[in-house]
Amino acid sequence: MSFDLNSLLRPHIAKLQPYTSARDEYTGKDGVFLDANENPFGSITAQDFNRYPDPYQSDLKEEIAKIKHMRPTQIFLGNGSDEAIDLLFRAFCNPGKDKVILLPPTYGMYEVSAGINDVEIRKVALTDDFQLQPEKILAAADEHTKILFICSPNNPSANKAKREDILYLLKNFKGLVVVDEAYIDFSDEPSFTTELVNYPNLLVMQTFSKAWGLASLRLGMAFASEEIIQILNKIKPPYNISGLTQETVLAAIQNKKKVDQMIKQILAERDFLLKEMAKLPFVQKIHPSHANFLLVKIPNANQVYDDLIAEKVIVRNRAKVLLCEDCLRITLGTRAENEALLSALRKVCEKSTVH
Ligand SMILES: *Cc1c(COP(=O)(O)O)cnc(C)c1O
Repeated sequence: MSFDLNSLLRPHIAKLQPYTSARDEYTGKDGVFLDANENPFGSITAQDFNRYPDPYQSDLKEEIAKIKHMRPTQIFLGNGSDEAIDLLFRAFCNPGKDKVILLPPTYGMYEVSAGINDVEIRKVALTDDFQLQPEKILAAADEHTKILFICSPNNPSANKAKREDILYLLKNFKGLVVVDEAYIDFSDEPSFTTELVNYPNLLVMQTFSKAWGLASLRLGMAFASEEIIQILNKIKPPYNISGLTQETVLAAIQNKKKVDQMIKQILAERDFLLKEMAKLPFVQKIHPSHANFLLVKIPNANQVYDDLIAEKVIVRNRAKVLLCEDCLRITLGTRAENEALLSALRKVCEKSTVH
């Protein structure tokens, strides 16, 4: 397949001279550091934060590279996946001219980020069972279509896309194919990172926000060819990942066993909630889940949503979303939380006349 990254890139980005920070120009660790206008006396906090962090997060990327089986140079780290999404628009899409393809219902940030960057979106809906429509997707693309966003497992539908459909699009779509794997740890599907060697137009996104339980730290990953990663590095804010985040995640990776254990627990809760929800007469449909949430169809979902809030159980109302009519998105909680959800659901649905 011929893929010309340079013709995809915005011309001024190709020419751009990036900012070089003090920590770019001298990367040694010893010496008298009078180069970055830092406070030499330390910080006002118990822990010192007075020195700027490593702009390319080298130590952290080395550890991530080991657990993801790739080279550190294939990894971009962002202030959440949302930063990677925004940088992709800024690198590849000329405002007012270029386009991207989105596959609704899907993660809302792609559309918002496109809007912020004044990039036109073409939408190709998923099928009724939330699968891709590869031929329609290809037909929606033209010479200005730069990026295709595929979310798998998908938010909010919870299912995974068929692998052969994604592979077909990787072979035939002329722009960059982003596969957002925020929920991959909850799926039996192998990651598309193994396909990076075969497809120079592939970028895979993952995050520390879900399975790792580090949403507050804001750390998202993008995996792609070295060439694509270099472009993202060139345009990112110099110190986009805080030192505290780098240190904390570095230590967390040494404790990966605990993540695997939490994933197992969440999957057990998924089985439990699936089984218990199936017994509720007012639940019309529970969509198959490869994620840490369930998409559930309940008549009068808007009312049920409000009534659940009155019971202090907060779920995500997706009733207005395409193909998700009367659907609530329910994140898997602890056993106690899931039981609280079940009893609140029984209470609010059995009092209403909907079933
Ligand atoms: C939660 C989620 C993310 C993660 O975003 P962060 O900015 O890394 O917290 C990315 N993509 C999808 C589809 C998500 O649902």
